[in-house]
Amino acid sequence: METRLPATEEMTALYWEVFVNRRAYTVQSPTPHRESGKHYYYRPKGEAALSAAIIRQHLEGEITIGLYAINPQTQRCKWVTIDADYSDALGDLLKLEWELRQDGVEAALERSRRGGHLWIFAGKPLLARDCRLYIYNLAQRLKVPVKGATLAEGIEVFPKQDMVPANEFGNALRGPLGIHRGAGRRYWFYGADYTLEAQIAYLSRLKRITAEEMAVFVAGLKMPEELVPQRGITLPPPDPARREFRILDHVTVTRRQGRNFWTRCPACAQQGRDRTGDNLAIAVSDPRKYRCWAGCTKEMIRAALGCPIRRSIAS
Ligand SMILES: [Zn+2]
Repeated sequence: METRLPATEEMTALYWEVFVNRRAYTVQSPTPHRESGKHYYYRPKGEAALSAAIIRQHLEGEITIGLYAINPQTQRCKWVTIDADYSDALGDLLKLEWELRQDGVEAALERSRRGGHLWIFAGKPLLARDCRLYIYNLAQRLKVPVKGATLAEGIEVFPKQDMVPANEFGNALRGPLGIHRGAGRRYWFYGADYTLEAQIAYLSRLKRITAEEMAVFVAGLKMPEELVPQRGITLPPPDPARREFRILDHVTVTRRQGRNFWTRCPACAQQGRDRTGDNLAIAVSDPRKYRCWAGCTKEMIRAALGCPIRRSIAS
């Protein structure tokens, strides 16, 4: 595990100013999950609110927190992050960074475990919807893959929602500069020396997008059709001549551990991934619940098995 670093009050205040847009947060578990081996994030008990002391502990490396992009009172965010962790991730992030620069937007590239996070900051918080619209159109123009219903590998944009209801949170992202509990190390931004002081000074100096600039960026843009969230899946009425899909009829379980069966994910296998043959977890108690730990969607898994999910035509 990486050594702890001292953080000053000033660093904590600057960090807050750049990254904190609401006081709900998550904490990364210091111990790995017994089945997946991952260090998950959970919301602290008692719905504790973020404080300067918690930010300081995060910077110093004592704990690792996750931050939410959207404040549900305003549906706005202080930052937009493009998360990419596949094989060409850095190349795609550099393309996006270049394209953003053509719009006069300065982005900060942070390393991550398998790729990177490209951060863009707002002067005053911007509507989450506009931020997403802008980035997704940029990605489409550059032919950068977007993770979604049809692609397992591609960029993900935080905020992940256009809006979040008042009592919900959206998706949190690891707060920069903390120690990743799984990797036991810090991931720095490329743009400054690898010290807390230099990194935070660099982040607070970056040019931020104004509301006027964003209004120009998104004027006339529409969300690319394949990225518009799908409506709930509606199956046609049951056909007695047809059996319900049962995943256990299609895969060979390799082991049972905890509450799950484990096997190779068919969608991963189709892409030459999952060589260890244990990406797919199927709940023993209800095999209708299954999940690929590499991120394949149910649609992809069903398609890979030759039993695509039937959808009603959107009306
Ligand atoms: Zn998979």
